[in-house]
Amino acid sequence: GDFPIETDTLVVGAGPGGYVAAIRAAQLGQKVTIVEKNVLGGVCLNVGCIPSKALIAAGHRYETAKHSDSIGIIAENVVVDFSKVQAWKAGVVKKLTGGVEGLLKGNKVDIVRGEAYFVDSNTVRVMDENSAQTYKFKNAIIATGSRPIELPAFKYTKRVLDSTGALALEEIPNHIVVIGGGYIGTELGGAYANFGTKVTILEGTDQILNGFEKQMSSIVAKNLKSKGAEIITKALAKGVEEREDGVTVRYEANGEEKTVDADYVFVMVGRRPNTDELGLEQAGVELTDRGIIKIDKKCRTNVSNIFAIGDVVEGPPLAHKASYEGKIAAEVIAGHNSEIDYLGIPAVVFSDPELASVGYTEQQAKEEGIDVIAAKFPFAANGRALALDNTDGFVKLVTRKEDGLVIGAQIAGPSASDMIAELGLAIEAGMTAEDLAMTIHAHPTLGEITMEAAEVALGSPIHVV
Ligand code: FAD
Repeated sequence: GDFPIETDTLVVGAGPGGYVAAIRAAQLGQKVTIVEKNVLGGVCLNVGCIPSKALIAAGHRYETAKHSDSIGIIAENVVVDFSKVQAWKAGVVKKLTGGVEGLLKGNKVDIVRGEAYFVDSNTVRVMDENSAQTYKFKNAIIATGSRPIELPAFKYTKRVLDSTGALALEEIPNHIVVIGGGYIGTELGGAYANFGTKVTILEGTDQILNGFEKQMSSIVAKNLKSKGAEIITKALAKGVEEREDGVTVRYEANGEEKTVDADYVFVMVGRRPNTDELGLEQAGVELTDRGIIKIDKKCRTNVSNIFAIGDVVEGPPLAHKASYEGKIAAEVIAGHNSEIDYLGIPAVVFSDPELASVGYTEQQAKEEGIDVIAAKFPFAANGRALALDNTDGFVKLVTRKEDGLVIGAQIAGPSASDMIAELGLAIEAGMTAEDLAMTIHAHPTLGEITMEAAEVALGSPIHVV
């Protein structure tokens, strides 16, 4: 064999979990090695969060250019050059992944290209096409992420696509079928609907975005339908026939078997953790029966010097959760007394309009026996929302009845993804409805909606009766 290379902290996977963990560990004085078998930035930067948001933004520009007659803007012959959209999107990704490389190097993290495989609880082998190298580590952080689930009846092909394929189309399709109305299916279906594609969503439960309250997801469903999308709930996708120029998808709904023809079918039914080809059994790391790595509040696995973060562990598969856990794991390795606390982690969907939630919903609070006030304020009563011609949605604040403590918030509306940050802060800082109501929000801004919702909670709103 080869001579092993020794390192303090070895991070496997350079997605938003791994690269953040590596940087923080280096900042805290560790000698850090990060191993990546594919591209820096992981799913998020390359085929997830960032390219999807670029595609969504381009779709919005097109859609608003075409549909602004009501505010006096009449644009004729608005044309999409989709290859240029794709090239722009690729440029955004490249800028960010290049940035990650610079940050890792700037923090003196050793970047190793290849696939890591655990040999025991202190050793990995890293393999690339023509070589292998052994690394000995004191601590390791597993951040290998997840990949799309493949349905047996929907093997991926050139017309049966996962999210990566859906992001990489070379032209705008006429018609797509999306299997799964979760956040990825709804975001990408929505992006193409804005480009003029006819979208059919097949969702197994009784609503799209079923992780959110129905009063939120129904606003998104209505918006999608206004763009010609069809949402078929309680639908079971059964199979697909592929032709040279399209697909026919078979599904069952209302006890009847039906078919729908389309150019492509997007299969977006969830993701599975990348824990199966890592040699974890040789390291002694325990998994749940769903292949998820078990960790404690310090991101520690059952093996005391091996940590795990991001999509390979329990919890919402979101980039900011992966990064947050990455910082915790790095700090614990450096001897800090850090622990994960998920209450302030927001969940966001970049749909039309956006949905965002942090902390408790009214329902969850009730289930835990917490007496709450749920106070709502609509975008339609806000001057800025009106002046933006964008008035669908509301802010809902969930506060504890006894003392007004903010324990949760839900937002449906334009910029919900940014507005939720204030409410995450309120939860983290232990603020009350009064604190939010007393904070002077600039006028006219969407942020005022949050202040007004707090006033509703206190029983004395100015702009609603
Ligand atoms: P990943 O990003 O999956 O990175 C894991 C890395 O590990 C990969 O680069 C992989 O190549 C590498 N790796 C795996 N095995 C090995 C090995 N044996 N050796 C070496 N390297 C290995 N989240 C949000 O918060 N907001 C969004 O808007 C959002 N949009 C999304 C849109 C889409 C279409 C998709 C698919 C996902 C989206 N997500 C979003 C989810 C987000 O991308 C993931 O939660 C996040 O990337 C998880 O980070 P991670 O670091 O755990 O893993």
